[in-house]
Amino acid sequence: MKSFEKSIAAFEEAKQHMPGGVNSPVRAFRSVGMDPIFMDSGKGSKITDIDGNTYIDYVLSWGPLILGHADDRVVEGLKKITEKGTSFGAPTVIENKMAALVKERIPSMDIVRMVNSGTEATMSALRLARGFTGRDKILKFVGSYHGHGDSLLIKAGSGVATLGLPDSPGVPETIARNTITVPYNDLESVQYAFEQYGDDIAAVIAEPVCGNMGVVPPQPGFLEGLRDITKQHGALLIFDEVMTGFRVGYHSAQGHFGVEPDLTCLGKIIGGGLPVGAYGGRKEIMDRVAPAGDIYQAGTLSGNPLAMTAGYETLAAMDKAAYERINVHADRLAEGYKAAAEEFGIALQVNRAGSMVGVFFTDTPVINFDTAKTSNLDHFSMYYREMIEAGIFLPPSQFEGLFLSAAHTDEDIEATIEAARQAFKKIAA
Ligand code: PLP
Repeated sequence: MKSFEKSIAAFEEAKQHMPGGVNSPVRAFRSVGMDPIFMDSGKGSKITDIDGNTYIDYVLSWGPLILGHADDRVVEGLKKITEKGTSFGAPTVIENKMAALVKERIPSMDIVRMVNSGTEATMSALRLARGFTGRDKILKFVGSYHGHGDSLLIKAGSGVATLGLPDSPGVPETIARNTITVPYNDLESVQYAFEQYGDDIAAVIAEPVCGNMGVVPPQPGFLEGLRDITKQHGALLIFDEVMTGFRVGYHSAQGHFGVEPDLTCLGKIIGGGLPVGAYGGRKEIMDRVAPAGDIYQAGTLSGNPLAMTAGYETLAAMDKAAYERINVHADRLAEGYKAAAEEFGIALQVNRAGSMVGVFFTDTPVINFDTAKTSNLDHFSMYYREMIEAGIFLPPSQFEGLFLSAAHTDEDIEATIEAARQAFKKIAA
């Protein structure tokens, strides 16, 4: 059995300093009934906790580290740039380089604005969509997470296409009422919502692959349908690619599925492990952002040289061959899980999009949040604990996917499949 003595002591202290002992809720490990594991270091696909336990990491800081931990190119780039000063509050040329690279890989982004988190990106994109269209309502999908901005921290009401309810005290009802929620992969509900509220809807915001209800890819025609419906009604289509951007493929999810949104939100990978976000899209729309236009948005540390350097080095290293290699590993992992579940008669669904892999303990194909919720959470918790014991670090929630990096090796993948086999054997016993 692994010892977590130092993590337990660190958590006791952390609880004196931070709400729930953490700086972001999911780090508390509550949904798997464990205490948090405090990390010390990482290199490549491996991380080591403060008790000296080492794990193959599939969290990768919740997605950003597509090159793995402490990649030499990122570390060297950061060392050099840091010596020159960390931030100036004046433009630097690395911002130009980074924007040009993002635009080259995501051609729907004519103009890009850097911000400091995915939340900031989605909040800013919504303000822009509302300002540009002169409309107030937003349509989002049940179970999608777009950061913690008021308009997006909304749960579904009852019914097919409903005006939202605050998902947290502090979100005003007046704001929640402007967010319409419908089930993912359900174009009929989207159509219905537009019949009801079409003239008031500024934008549809969608994860082109959902990553916050586990991994749920779009069904054929879904993204195309969103594109058509929004166009017909003069609403904008926003792809929240904070998670999928530069993860689902070289050209992100929109390149992979061949559907162009009006606006795209980015984060995670484009910061290479440093705090970052970005939003961008059609020039006509982005030209409304201050100081080019009248819609205000700003940031003291936006586009800072450290985040731009880590992001640039990361994207530059991720050529098409690197994506192909990761996809081969992700495919092998998904197939290995399926075979292991079959061997022990465990009900399991495995969804995959590029290097995002989602595992659900259910017989029901998972296509939206309701079907994701059919997963057996007791099985998930048992599996999670077994995997930790076996040295595999996974997101401590059923409703999050696994991420692979370019640093994961064949041996890592095989060891992970074997650990899952052993976990399934125990669940079946
Ligand atoms: N959008 C999506 C799809 C996300 O997955 C997340 C975070 O996980 C966000 C937005 C918010 O990003 P951040 O945590 O950087 O604010």
